[in-house]
Amino acid sequence: MKLQLNRILLVSASLIVMVAAFALLVFQSSVIPKRSFSAPETSYHNWDEILSSLQPITIRTYSTGMMQTDLSGIMNLSHEKAADIEDVIVKTPVTASIIHHQEFGFFLIDTGLDSSYINNPYGTYRGILVKKTIGKGSQEPNTNIAAILERENIQLQGVWLTHLHPDHTAGIVDLPKSIPYVAGEGERYINFRYLMQSDHLAGLEALYEIDFTKGIDLPPFGKGVDLFGDGSFWAIESSGHSKGHVMYFINGKDERVLVTGDACNDQFQFDTGIGPGYFSSDLEQAQHVLESIIIFKERYPEVRLVFGHDV
Ligand SMILES: [Zn+2]
Repeated sequence: MKLQLNRILLVSASLIVMVAAFALLVFQSSVIPKRSFSAPETSYHNWDEILSSLQPITIRTYSTGMMQTDLSGIMNLSHEKAADIEDVIVKTPVTASIIHHQEFGFFLIDTGLDSSYINNPYGTYRGILVKKTIGKGSQEPNTNIAAILERENIQLQGVWLTHLHPDHTAGIVDLPKSIPYVAGEGERYINFRYLMQSDHLAGLEALYEIDFTKGIDLPPFGKGVDLFGDGSFWAIESSGHSKGHVMYFINGKDERVLVTGDACNDQFQFDTGIGPGYFSSDLEQAQHVLESIIIFKERYPEVRLVFGHDV
């Protein structure tokens, strides 16, 4: 009797160890070293001060390919205003924006798709869950992010990410690794060995995280961080679509631009006021952020909006 009990205990213990070892193997590929991004001290206190001090910064947005997805993934079709909207498969452009600051040089906001999408609808993704969970991508020749940067002869100084969903990080595989990559604090990187592994962030020394507790209040949004310290370029707290989602504000002399990332996918989402769909980590918060964007645009109609998946 005692011998049998010992055997059961031994088998159970071995099973637990095996499951733990397998889980470690699967999840270990999603762990990346993180560092805190330290922004310079800001002298600004509110939108009126920021908008009355325009800076030498510009932005251009490019499509790096198309991605297929369920409409319900990007739009909350359970919303009362969505009663007449059918869940269909939609094709949306996967964008990246190049910003240029006269003093600090060129940066990217999100990276779009890398060149692997020309031959493979899943890019660098592999694993048993890929075909079930990831939308198919497609790409015209020489529209990947590295080709765009080469054509424009751009030397990147860094990359700012709205969030770490694959359609925003894929391009990193073709970009230099010696520059800083920055995202919002607490953003999750989904990269699971054997299941769905893309290694989009492979080779980065660390991912820098923006700590919004050190920012200023920028209603109708939450906190904002003055990334260059001169009021030209702001990160705006906007968790909802993803845990550490960030919007970026470009306070240029030529134009003021809010890059919404997937807090607002496109003009249709903005016009209907129906928040992001099931790809989001918190539907209620995502709806709230979308409504803040609509209020912001009413208050500052001169600001141009660049949506996550519109060019
Ligand atoms: Zn997206």
